[in-house]
Amino acid sequence: MTQITYDTVYTHGLADSEASARFEQALAALRGGGPLECPHVVDGERLAAGTPIAREDPTDPSRVVALTYEGGRELVRNAVDGARQASAAWRRTPLEERCAVMEEVSRRFVERRIELAALMTHEVGKTRADTLTEIDECGVIIDLFLQQLRDSDGYRTGMKAPMAGADAYLLKRPYGVFGVIPPFNFPLAIATAMAGAALLTGNAVVYKPSALTPATGQAWFELFDGLLPRGVLQLVHGDAETGRALGESAVDGIAFTGSAAVGLALAERLSEPPHVRPLIAEMGGKNPVIVTGSAGSLAAAAQATARAAYGMTGQKCVSCSRAIVTADVHDEFLAHLTDYVATLKVGDPIDPGVMAGPLVKRASHERFADVMSEVARDGGTVAVGGSASDPAAGYFADLTVVDGLPIGHRLTRDELFLPVLTVTTVDDFDAAITEANNVIYGLSSGIYSEDPDEQRRYLDEIESGIVFVNNPGGSTTGIWPGNQTMAGWKATGTTGNGGFGPLYLTQFMREQSRTTYP
Ligand code: GLU
Repeated sequence: MTQITYDTVYTHGLADSEASARFEQALAALRGGGPLECPHVVDGERLAAGTPIAREDPTDPSRVVALTYEGGRELVRNAVDGARQASAAWRRTPLEERCAVMEEVSRRFVERRIELAALMTHEVGKTRADTLTEIDECGVIIDLFLQQLRDSDGYRTGMKAPMAGADAYLLKRPYGVFGVIPPFNFPLAIATAMAGAALLTGNAVVYKPSALTPATGQAWFELFDGLLPRGVLQLVHGDAETGRALGESAVDGIAFTGSAAVGLALAERLSEPPHVRPLIAEMGGKNPVIVTGSAGSLAAAAQATARAAYGMTGQKCVSCSRAIVTADVHDEFLAHLTDYVATLKVGDPIDPGVMAGPLVKRASHERFADVMSEVARDGGTVAVGGSASDPAAGYFADLTVVDGLPIGHRLTRDELFLPVLTVTTVDDFDAAITEANNVIYGLSSGIYSEDPDEQRRYLDEIESGIVFVNNPGGSTTGIWPGNQTMAGWKATGTTGNGGFGPLYLTQFMREQSRTTYP
């Protein structure tokens, strides 16, 4: 049986038509309702304080989805202080009680599946395949973490006693308070992974959802209603100012997923005296797929590449944004790619046939236009796509393939977070590997080749934390907890340990070496 992952849902469609109908009703109700109020929640108190922020619906920017507030420095300070106070009792709470909280959250995800999916679509413009799959993923993440914790034996390792009768062991202990800053694109799954890991390992959390997803962030926070002692999980809304304040606050560490610019700024803040604090960050990618003359089916490779490039409208960290093809397959691969892309529908995600919804915000829509001008200026060819809607009608952009930009062009190096796939032609496999590695990022990568030697060399030489050989669903996507980890190399990640992997949870703890003499 085919395993359903993020991207295979595009090929298999949504089997559950009843869920689909309920999703449409829920989305229509949200669209007909007014803006959702999203206050901060600090020490159990709801606070509507700070400069107001209105979050628009990217499908129809005249609709306001949510009203929230820029939390700012003082609110962050109060939230961190409250979390600090709550953290002492929380870290002593037996592991099974902490696990029970996340088990209940998992049950609530199931209960609220449709309502949460519709809310995410309303706020971010993701398709139902994406939102429903993401919610199912949250339960899988929680199960995986619980299993890892229960197998860990309390993160205790016996050591050699220095003398007879002495007791020596290592224990992993929580840091105290983690700031958690998830991105807009997987607002529930990544919040569940980062904050869930922090809470389960005994840390209190100050959670700042993306300013693009205040309502989804609020709904995620409300999944914990009545489950946690006061102050263990604080909700602070806001944008850059509040994120910066969190970096400059007294948190013991930050878990962050987002752009390299913001992540690197946080790294600086967390390295300031008196001591370096951990940053568990995943910061983007420029994910390549290599297609060589030894690829099995070029049609299948082209389709899987398109799905990876345009799923979530190209706004995943793992989206495939570069196809690097050897000259012998260029024409045929491009023909398959353009034919297939022409069949994929962009539009309002209330339509079940839509593969890609709008871009998340006006600035992304403007960036798309800038990128297209750059392509024209620098001699690239738009093989398919290239146009965008009037922004007043939603932030829609064509699924676009750009061919023929010179090697080293900025658009083949920088993360764009747009539905733009560049095709670069190289002479041979060696040149393909060199080109694939010639970016600052190292998140996900794929190859289509049946040649065992190419496969072996690719696995050995590619500089990337997630590596796919002949992935039928999406060349660089479809990462699923338990099957893969989200490990970022180079400018993508700070720790080298992947999200969902066996070492992920341990990053939220520090080691204590204990020796008691008789
Ligand atoms: N699970 C997603 C996928 O592979 C990736 C998550 C991300 O990009 O952060 O499609």
